[in-house]
Amino acid sequence: MHPFESHIRNVPDFPKPGVIFKDITPLLTERFSEVIEAMSQGIDWSQVDHVVGIESRGFILGAAMAQLKGKGFIPMRKKGKLPPPIIAESYALEYGTDTLEMIVNTKAAKIVLVDDVLATGGTLKAALKLCERNHLHVVSMSLLINLTFLNKFKEEGLPVVSVLNY
Ligand code: AMP
Repeated sequence: MHPFESHIRNVPDFPKPGVIFKDITPLLTERFSEVIEAMSQGIDWSQVDHVVGIESRGFILGAAMAQLKGKGFIPMRKKGKLPPPIIAESYALEYGTDTLEMIVNTKAAKIVLVDDVLATGGTLKAALKLCERNHLHVVSMSLLINLTFLNKFKEEGLPVVSVLNY
């Protein structure tokens, strides 16, 4: 068992029935710097200009990774939070759709995309597409937890680094 696992709470039926929610808040409290170091491994940082974090747990992790590696940070937010000019990408949820937004970027750059949990991959696929449309080439994606039984990121050869894999 990975030493981080005992600091993650599995909360059944949250936020809806059937989902086992991975609560990483105890891990952030007890092992924060080790988590940031682990999530930063396996990436060629010499190829990276900035870190993009997905709201909101991706902000906590991504901002700390950017600080550790001396890179800039770019927030990717939920709909309606960022001022114009923005670029948006919508994606399907079980019921309805969700939208991610970024401030329009004109200068091409290479980035690492960060979030806490990769589940079905809908969020990360939309985030990936949004970055590429916004002239931000994704060198690597870094996740704390990859629920590999719910997505095919590895099989599809996408550049994903994850610390805990289920
Ligand atoms: P998905 O689009 O299905 O890959 O879901 C990813 C987003 O939902 C991430 O931003 C996660 O923070 C959150 N999420 C999905 N499943 C879980 C889970 N079992 N525990 C905690 N967060 C989750």
